[in-house]
This record gives sequence, C-alpha cells and structure tokens, in this order.
Amino acid sequence: MTDGSIPAERRIFVNRTLNLRAIRAVGFDMDYTLVHYRVEEWERRAYEHARAHLAARGWPVQDLRFDAELVTVGLVLDLELGNLIKATRFGYVTRAEHGTRELTFEQQRQAYSRVLVDLREPRWLFLNTLFSLSEATLFSQCVDLLDAGKLDPTLGYAGLYRVVKSAVDATHMEGALKAEIAENPGPFVELDPDLPRTLLDLKEAGKLLLLVTNSEWSYTRAILSYALDPALPGGMSFRELFDLVVVAARKPEFFTGHSALFEIVDDSGLLRPALGPMRRGGLYLGGNARSVEQDLGLAAEEILYVGDHLYADVHVTKDMLRWRTALILREMEREVKSSLQFRPAQDELNRLMAQKVALEHRTSLARLELQRGEHGAGDPEAARARLTEIRAQVVELDQRIAPLADAAGRVGNPHWGLLMRAGLDKSYLARQVERYADIYTSRVSNFSLCSPHAYLRAPRVTLPHDPDAGWSP
Ligand code: IMP
Ligand code: MG
Repeated sequence: MTDGSIPAERRIFVNRTLNLRAIRAVGFDMDYTLVHYRVEEWERRAYEHARAHLAARGWPVQDLRFDAELVTVGLVLDLELGNLIKATRFGYVTRAEHGTRELTFEQQRQAYSRVLVDLREPRWLFLNTLFSLSEATLFSQCVDLLDAGKLDPTLGYAGLYRVVKSAVDATHMEGALKAEIAENPGPFVELDPDLPRTLLDLKEAGKLLLLVTNSEWSYTRAILSYALDPALPGGMSFRELFDLVVVAARKPEFFTGHSALFEIVDDSGLLRPALGPMRRGGLYLGGNARSVEQDLGLAAEEILYVGDHLYADVHVTKDMLRWRTALILREMEREVKSSLQFRPAQDELNRLMAQKVALEHRTSLARLELQRGEHGAGDPEAARARLTEIRAQVVELDQRIAPLADAAGRVGNPHWGLLMRAGLDKSYLARQVERYADIYTSRVSNFSLCSPHAYLRAPRVTLPHDPDAGWSP
C-alpha cells in the first residue's frame, strides 16, 4: 500500500471528480456492497427456493438448473418478446437471446432494427444487481418452457415474468432462505479481510458511517456480525462502527419519500415510533433520507452513498438528492483483468482496423473517380483497376479481422462479452453508470487502497473529434 501502486482491477474509477476529504458521511448498502455473496451459492439457493414456488403451482420446472454464466448484470429483459438483450448506450440492441438460445443476426435484425431500448417503457427490465441473476435465469428458462407448450400459452412473456417475479419476491421475503443463510453464512458470504480496516480508516478520518439496507434486522445482524465483528479490534462490534443503522429501508422510496421512522429497541426487533431526531448510534427501521440529512446536519454534497443496485442505490440518490454516489460492481475485477489479458490482441485488431479504414477510404475515392469517369471526367479504367486491387486486399484483411473481432466480443463472458462495452460503443450499463455513479469500483475495501484522503479526479474523456480518437479517414 505504501508504494502507492494499486492493482488495475482494484482501482476506483471516476466519472465526476470527488474529493473524499470533503465527504463527512459515508452511507453503505449491505447486500452485495459491504458484504459480497458467492453468487453461485446465494443465487442458486434463491433460484431453488423460487423454483419450488413455481413447482407448487404445477409448473414443470423440476429439471431446471441455475447457471451463473447465462446472465450478467446490466443486461435487459424484453418482456414483449421473451428475450434477454445487451444494448449500446443509445439503446441499440447488439446481442440477444430468446429464452436461453442466442438469436441469429437475422432474427435479431428483424426483432430490433426499429426498436430502441428505453427503460421508461414497461417492456424493458434492467438487471440492476447481482440479485437479478437468479430471477433472469429462471425467466429465460421458463420462456423455453412456454415456447415448448409446457406452460399456459395465454400467459405471454410479460405474464410469465410476473409469476416468476412473484416467486422470487416471495423467496426474498418469506424468511426461509434468509434464515438458512443467517444460520450458516459461511458458504454464502465471501469475506473480505480488508473490509473492517477500511471502515475503521474512514471512521478514524472523521467520517460518519451510515448503514442503510433493505434487509431486515435479524438478517443484517447475522450477516454483519459474521462479516465484521471477528476482525474488529478489542471486542468492538459492527454496531459501534456505524453512527447510524437503518434496516428495512425500502430503497428507493427511502430516498424519495417520507416514510415513518421506527426505532428498534431490543434484540428481538421490538419497534417503537421514533419521535425525536435520529440519534448517533441509533438503530432504526424505515424512515427517509431527508431526515438523515436534517438530523445529522449534513448537506447533500457531504454524503457519499455506496451501493450495488444501479437504480435503488445510485440512480434515485443522484436524481432526487444529489448525494455523491459510488457504485460497487464486483464484475469490474473480471472486466479489467480480461481486458488487460486481451490487450495484445486488441492492439492487433486496432492496427488491422486502421488499415481497413484506410482501404475503405481509398475504395470510396476510387468509386468517386469511376462515377466521374462515367460522366466524362477522369479515367474510369484506372479507377476500376484500383478498385479490384483494393477489394482483394480488403478480403485478405477481413479474414484476419474476423476471428479477432469475434474473440473481442467474448472477452470476459462467452455469451455477452465485456459488461461495459457493446461492440465498439459503451454499453447501456456503462451509460447508466456514468450518468448516476460519480465513482465506481469493485469492492468497498478499495477505498483503503486509495485512502480516505484521496482526491479522485475524473480523467479527460475522448471525443470522436479528438486527434487520437479513432478511425475516420
Ligand atoms: P441491500 O442491498 O442491503 O439494500 O438489501 C437488499 C435486500 O433486498 C436483501 O434483503 C434482498 O433479499 C432483497 N431483495 C433483493 N432482490 C429482491 C427482489 O427481487 N425482491 C424482493 N426482495 C429483494
Ligand atoms: Mg445491495
């Protein structure tokens, strides 16, 4: 740490400059933020519980299995066509699967050539968090069942989604799944040995630490005492670490509404309405962000909220409150490492593409010369000969480009490629991230790698007209 080098995949990436020294309070989400779950384990259990709900309705789902590679965050469900899609920042669809089968280029063109993804329409459902993986996997597999005539055809894909979603909601809310995990968190929680020290560093730098989670108190207590308490000094518990704990916060409403606040008065979870302002060290249920600002005397720009849910944790927080926002995106570690690994091939691809662009430019000029020649100005024969020669070079170049371009589209994930890119463009996910998250990083403990005193500076972005930006002739 002292030599200052931070592994590329553990850096904090900056969309809008953020001086951590100007931050007085850091609010944390819990699930998949402070505490990272082993996706394979947590989502498989959630999936199995939800599948059991569907089986109880008589759906033939017994043979379905969770597959953690099928879906990633940042993809979008198309509830009209039963597809899972990846889109560019502008909403153009670049890859699609119907149920669990990849669409051919032609099928995709037919479905989406006139369509742009716009999340304000109910047709689209953005996969905001790793919790979405079990739900989207189950939905895609049930689309296969519906197509095979094994489910009530009158449901349609949107109706199918509603049933799957209600099974997933029931799984999260009924308590059996959470009780199972709370009782034995070991297999589900991926401990981060640097997390307790990171939180202490922030606290010792004078920042208030807030916890605002949608999870209930009994689950929160079990998970955080497992993840933090053993590594805190001198018998300290996570309760002493946080200046404020809010559970069952009902984000995003927590950030937009005026929900009533309750105080949790004992370990059994007994509640009483909180009448006065929130107290330092208090344990609460519900409430809202405005009273956090007011009761703690904090201005919006002095609060940094750190969460993993693109909509509920960062979008609404930025839109409604203008708090500073940090998105935790664990996949960045795989994203950055696999990009680095692919870099030599990417450099070669860029080199070949630059050659191709130059040839395309020569082709266009030769065509123009031919056109002029056919209208009596210039030498059409020479232009024709040049075109033939260039065409042969393009064919040869394309043969070298094709396998590299295909590999580039599969970096990081064989189905979907890099999460933040869609073809040459930024992905829809990348657009959401840059819009709503001031900073993004793979895990909370990365804050200790850069220190609580960091001035996190946004880099200069590239524009298409920058001299070094790209390929136009
Ligand atoms: P947080 O990330 O700490 O705010 O907590 C997320 C909470 O929301 C966890 O308790 C999850 O079980 C719950 N949750 C996540 N996804 C769903 C869902 O699709 N339906 C209902 N609850 C969910
Ligand atoms: Mg979360």
